[in-house]
Amino acid sequence: MTPTDQDRWSRVKGRLKAEVGEDIFSSWFARMDLEAVEKETARHSVPTRFLKSWIQSHYSDRLLSCWQAEEQTVQRIELTVRTATRPMVRPPLAAEESEPPRAIRVAASGGSGFGGQPPSGTMNDDLGGSPLDSRLTFDTFVVGRSNTLAHAAAKQVAVARRGDSVMFNPLYIHAGVGLGKTHLLHAITWAGNAGGDRKVLYLTVEKFMYGFVSALKSQTAIAFKEAVRGIDVLVIDDLQFLTGKNIQAEFCHTLNALIDAGRQVVIAADRPPTELESLDDRMRSRLAGGLVVEMGPLPEEMRLEILRNRIAAARSHHAGFSLPEPVIAYIAKAVTHNGRDLEGALNRMLAHSKLTGQPVTLEMAEREVRDLVRPQEPRRVKIEDIQRVVARQYNVSRSDLLSSRRTANVVRPRQIAMFLAKTLTLRSLPEIGRRFGGRDHTTVLHAVRKIEGLLGSDTSLAEEIEVLKRQLQE
Ligand code: ADP
Ligand code: MG
Repeated sequence: MTPTDQDRWSRVKGRLKAEVGEDIFSSWFARMDLEAVEKETARHSVPTRFLKSWIQSHYSDRLLSCWQAEEQTVQRIELTVRTATRPMVRPPLAAEESEPPRAIRVAASGGSGFGGQPPSGTMNDDLGGSPLDSRLTFDTFVVGRSNTLAHAAAKQVAVARRGDSVMFNPLYIHAGVGLGKTHLLHAITWAGNAGGDRKVLYLTVEKFMYGFVSALKSQTAIAFKEAVRGIDVLVIDDLQFLTGKNIQAEFCHTLNALIDAGRQVVIAADRPPTELESLDDRMRSRLAGGLVVEMGPLPEEMRLEILRNRIAAARSHHAGFSLPEPVIAYIAKAVTHNGRDLEGALNRMLAHSKLTGQPVTLEMAEREVRDLVRPQEPRRVKIEDIQRVVARQYNVSRSDLLSSRRTANVVRPRQIAMFLAKTLTLRSLPEIGRRFGGRDHTTVLHAVRKIEGLLGSDTSLAEEIEVLKRQLQE
């Protein structure tokens, strides 16, 4: 190769860099060499097959046009893989080299909520793979109507063997917070690695970004890519946090490379691909092109089973820990929001029983988990419903409530109904007055004040009103 060829190559590289940007250039082209320019062909070499196929399929036109801008005679680009004069270093990813990571999650107050041995045969994640929680396995994952499909698909991915054809790619699981996405992804990773012949890598998207950015900074982008390429199943958690144009482009490249190479990709996010606004269309459609499954809220029977499992597991660390049946039932019923809150509730019970040595009672449970009890979406209560429920409760008719009768057995229920209408709906006092037989707003105000006044002293009235509220809001 002549010195002029080298000069030209430098200029071609300069053009390329200007076109694709610094990041992409250093990721894909930094280790590309010019071997020779022969007649119409510029021959290049790269260190790996992956790079070769990548550049060929994504950048060959660019590369050619950059060449032609310098040297019109060049009509073709050729890429070869350099036979290694120095051994190619593969980042350690192998199972044999590492201990299974231990649980890293420390449960809130009171220590670990549920126990269990980490499965063996896991791999390390020097790549910046995220730590795995040994408790989040298929064994501890409760399957029910909200997640049957997601679970079945996850199982399928986990038991596949190297070389099996990939049935759906990517597998994309979405669900609201605390509904078991991370649990399922960890389970896939544990189970997938347990067989020993495959490499399953779990990365949160932050880790992906961090790993990539730091790899770029330290000029080991290629090593990073090689490492990513060397895995059979890439599991990415919390994709909704993917940000940044370059990172996105790289994520997209990585994803495409893996999928095209027949590797399995599993992704979790808090929304479906179509709602990942920050991603470009091509990326979204690629994500939607596999199997997209949603996991719904945990129904009560699943919450109950999750709790029971957790209690059993907690017992292996805290002998003698138990919760009375009504407390379990109460928590499963009241803590509806998600699995994370269930775990929090249980940890509080555990902490209480350990710190006080007292058995957990229902009263204590109600007090401790009060802030975790969030009615999903406060139901919109209608004034007619209030009238109906109150009338039934006090054994009067609805028309009695609307009438002008002033006997005590009607007056009190009417006041209660008005009070509930004021507190449970957004209706104004005049509006409520109208709906109660065309009364004046001052009458309504009087009723509301009356009941408020009584609530402080009359505990049985307070209870009755609580019961009514619950009926109306359920
Ligand atoms: P996400 O990643 O969807 O926000 P996680 O997977 O972190 O939710 O789940 C939150 C908590 O709820 C974890 O402790 C998890 O073990 C538990 N959980 C959620 N769904 C299930 C389930 N189906 N079976 C067992 N535990 C579950
Ligand atoms: Mg999660």
